[in-house]
Amino acid sequence: MLSKKRTGIFLPYFQGQRLSDFPQALINILDKENVHYYDGVYQLANATNYVQPVIEDMLSKVHSKSMIDLVEGTGYFEAASYSAGGTVQAAEQIRLGNIDNAFIFTGFGDHHAGRSYFGGMCYFNGAAVAIAALTEKGGTRFAIVDTDSHHGDGTRDIFGQDKEVLHICFCSQNHCDGNNNVDVRVPHGINDKGYLRRVRQAFVPRVSTFNPELIFWEFGYDATLGEYGDKGLTKDCHVEIARIIKSTADTVCRSRLVTILCGGSRRDLATYIIPKIITLMAEQE
Ligand SMILES: [Zn+2]
Ligand SMILES: [Zn+2]
Repeated sequence: MLSKKRTGIFLPYFQGQRLSDFPQALINILDKENVHYYDGVYQLANATNYVQPVIEDMLSKVHSKSMIDLVEGTGYFEAASYSAGGTVQAAEQIRLGNIDNAFIFTGFGDHHAGRSYFGGMCYFNGAAVAIAALTEKGGTRFAIVDTDSHHGDGTRDIFGQDKEVLHICFCSQNHCDGNNNVDVRVPHGINDKGYLRRVRQAFVPRVSTFNPELIFWEFGYDATLGEYGDKGLTKDCHVEIARIIKSTADTVCRSRLVTILCGGSRRDLATYIIPKIITLMAEQE
């Protein structure tokens, strides 16, 4: 019999308007018995666990000491540590078998943070730190799929030479090399059908062949119509992308999927798209 997925929701501390409807917008989701909520700020009755900030020892497995020091000087160190911490904690909970998949709300992150630089409101690369933590515990092969509108330059900087990490990025350039790095160009004004075709063609067969133990999804909605990275996607396109990625994770790696919130600014889009993605992740196969 098919069972529902145990889905972790990690909602750490964050600033700004875009997520100000959360966690209220998840109210019907948080009640589900297969949803595990990790709270950062709001002391909700159904928050049984709390998001922990990532420790500096772990950050330094990925980022240079000088960069970590620079982030400390920005005033965003604490918020960035919680954002990356949620991702590290989610991956560990999946490794331990306590949850199958997870959605991480980040205030700051993820894919523009490289080994020794940060930018574009990404201070630490949570997926990279989580992979470093899992690798220490014997993990080997990981896939990162990036559907934010922009190129995941920080992630590529960290894993560009690492054949054990498959990085598939939907952005503005075409690239493919022998170290399992793939960029798929998404032209401006593409429609949902064209985008989803690219995801099916470039992501599904590669990740199936690669056979990772866990998939990280750098999910941004900034390619939506009217957003700052507008590529012409409708808001429903992200839900369809989620459907493809989730079903691939179900088939390839026992549903192990960590979805990390990246770019996007509009509050109405966040409130529409994110609950739909989490609902889908928590459904049965
Ligand atoms: Zn972006
Ligand atoms: Zn790219």
